[in-house]
Order: sequence, then C-alpha cells, then structure tokens
Amino acid sequence: MPNLCIVGLQWGDEGKGKIVDYYADRFHSVVRYNGGSNAGHTIVIGKRTYVFHLLPSGLLKNKRLLIGPGVAVDPQTLTEEVEMIRREGHKANLAVDGRCTIVTPLEKAMDSFIEELKGDKAIGTTKRGIGPSYAMRALRLTPRAGDLARGTFDLSSALKFYRSLMKKPPSMEGWTESARTSLSGLIGDVGEEIMETNEAGRSVLFEGAQGVLLDLVHGTYPYVTGTHTLASYVPASLGIPATSLGDVMGVAKAYATRVGEGPFPTEIHGKVESLIRETGREYGATTGRPRRIGWLDLVALKYAVKMNGVSTLALTKLDILTKLKEFKVCTHYDVDGTETAEFSRALPQLSSVKPVYLDLPPLYGAELTTARLHRPVEKFVEYLEDEMKVSVSIVSMGEERTATHRRVTD
Ligand code: GDP
Repeated sequence: MPNLCIVGLQWGDEGKGKIVDYYADRFHSVVRYNGGSNAGHTIVIGKRTYVFHLLPSGLLKNKRLLIGPGVAVDPQTLTEEVEMIRREGHKANLAVDGRCTIVTPLEKAMDSFIEELKGDKAIGTTKRGIGPSYAMRALRLTPRAGDLARGTFDLSSALKFYRSLMKKPPSMEGWTESARTSLSGLIGDVGEEIMETNEAGRSVLFEGAQGVLLDLVHGTYPYVTGTHTLASYVPASLGIPATSLGDVMGVAKAYATRVGEGPFPTEIHGKVESLIRETGREYGATTGRPRRIGWLDLVALKYAVKMNGVSTLALTKLDILTKLKEFKVCTHYDVDGTETAEFSRALPQLSSVKPVYLDLPPLYGAELTTARLHRPVEKFVEYLEDEMKVSVSIVSMGEERTATHRRVTD
C-alpha cells in the first residue's frame, strides 16, 4: 500500500485531525511535516475531546509518531502535550527530527512584536512564534533540536539579533535546560526512519497542518502561514524521495472558514453566519477566536485540488448543512466585470472579486446515517465530484470518530 498524505484544501480547520485519526489504523507511522503548535487538530471520542498542536493525530491509534524537520517545535508545548496524554493513560511513541527548528520565547515575543508593528495590516497570527522561527532558520541564526540534545544549543547570535530589534526581549534564563529535558531521548532522523519503514513494506501517513490557501508562496500572501502547506512539500521537508509521497487525500469542509485577516471572497455576515459558527463550533482550536464564515468556494477548491494532485476527497461537516434553509456554492468570481473560475488569475486582486453563486437544493433536515448517504446528500456529493473531477471517499457528518461514512471501499 502506498503512503498517504492528508492535506487541508481551504484555510485550515477542515477537520484533518478527525480524518487522520480515522485512517491511521492502516499505517505504521503518522508524520507531521509542516507548521508547529499554531495547528490545532481535534479528535472527539465519546465525551472526550483531544486537541493536538504538535503531536501527530495518530496518537490515539497507538501509531509510531514522527515530527519531521519541517516542523517548528516548541519544547514546552510538546512536553505539555506528552504529559496530558500520559495522564489519560496513552503513551506517545515519538521521535523528533534533530533538524527541526526550535521555537523559544524569543520567537513568540517577535511574533507579537511584528503583529503590533504592522498595526492594521497585522496578519492575525496565533502568536505561537512559528513564522519568526522559520525566519530565524532562514537567517541561520537559530540552533536546532539536535543541538539541544548534543548540548551545543547556542543562542548567543539569536539573542544579539533580538536585542538589536526589541527593547526588552524575554529572559531566557533556564530555558535551554528545560527545553533539553523536553526533547531528551526523542531526537531521531525522521526521513531515514520513513525510508526504512517503507523498505520494510510498511506505509506511513503524512499529516498536513493549516490549508493550501495559507501556503507561504501559493496562498493569499501576505495573509499566509510561515511554511508550505502543499502536499508536494512532504518529500522536500522530510528529505525523502518525491516518489514516496504516495496518494493525496484532500480534506474540505462543506462550507468555508478562515481565522485571521486576509481576503475571503465568500465570507458571509448575519444570521446564517452565526448559525454556522454556533452549530459548527467554529472557534479556533489554538486561540479560541471566532472563525470567519463563508459559503463553499469551488473556485478556490479547484485550485487546491489541482495544485496538490488530490486523488480523493474527504468532505467534512455535512451535518451543519442540514441545519441551513439555504445553501449556496461559489462557482465563479466576477473580476472587474469578467467572470473567471481560475483562482490563480484572481489571486492578485482577491479582496475585490465578487463571488458568483449557484443555489443548490438545501439539505435542511436531511437524514444523515453513516451506513449510507440518503438521496439529497448523495446528490450534493456527486455534484462536487463532477465539479472537482475527483471522488469523495469519506463523508464526515459529526465530530465523533464514529460519525463517518465511507463511500468507496478503498
Ligand atoms: P483541523 O485543524 O483541520 O484538524 O481542524 P480543527 O480540529 O481545527 O477543526 C475542525 C473541528 O471540526 C473540530 O472541532 C472537529 O472535532 C470538528 N469536526 C470534524 N469533522 C466534523 C464533522 O463532520 N461535523 C462536525 N460537526 N464537526 C466536525
């Protein structure tokens, strides 16, 4: 069986955590390859809700968990998560790549500092220090996870840099020792391990963070995250052959949400917005901020499907549509009087495009059962398959692990 990459196709928060947890059974390892503790992947089992910021979502299936070199690791968050899990009676069988960039209190302070500096042009980051941590790596100013383990973690250049920019950088006293303890015994070579796992005939699942439209280069720059979110980043970030990527499953919500600032063509305001936010519990898993709400944007979704080479889709939050008496999808944008369905063409002026909607039959009150899709729901799913030219293999109809319909036997 090939490896599988599960990637978010919108602005993040598509429900990747649930889908990764659902699929993890079939894989030997689950690997985080991008982002950091700015992610918040949620898994609901019975009455218990788990939110993972750094630990891969295969944890509750007792999988080998790998944090690849493309991830920005905050040692304190990692320890908190490992301890939370231990208290619940789970064990994290975890390795963190020695090349991971590390988030210190300095990067978190820098995150807030830059947001303040930008004033009304602030991005609305989670202030977890992820962007600054990647920037420090690009500037070759910060040591890495392996340096902590080897005792060669030298922050002197970074400190000089921060002192030249900020009046009062946070104190770093005692930080290195505690970070070293956090990562003690966890450092590994994740790329090498994945290749060995594959050579032994076992497959791995790559778990994406954030969403395609937040990609540092291909998203809605500058309102993007500090890393790449595309599936094609998997091999480069992990240091494995491009051919090891395997299949790509894209996760999309049946409507759209966005946290933070930036263009959002299908954003809605009013009663439907509040209804979706409250029934869909659209509040950030990391910051608790209310998510902005919009209709499903097929123009953006097609872009995401195409760029990721998505082979199959997981559609989430269908249950929320059954609470809505109206249901629209955006099929085109009006760009200065000209209609286009090409997201990349509209991208430079995305904040001024007007969405062109198609009203679809509402799914209000539609019966949802995991055994089979009833006709109105099936019709919508078929419509989406026709538009996207890929199959929908999973339909999620509730936050619970069990509220999942598998459409194709794969
Ligand atoms: P992720 O970062 O992509 O994993 O997404 P989040 O965990 O931030 O947000 C998704 C939220 O939607 C979580 O609270 C999930 O428990 C929840 N969720 C996932 N799938 C469904 C679904 O089909 N229906 C409902 N109602 N909630 C879902």
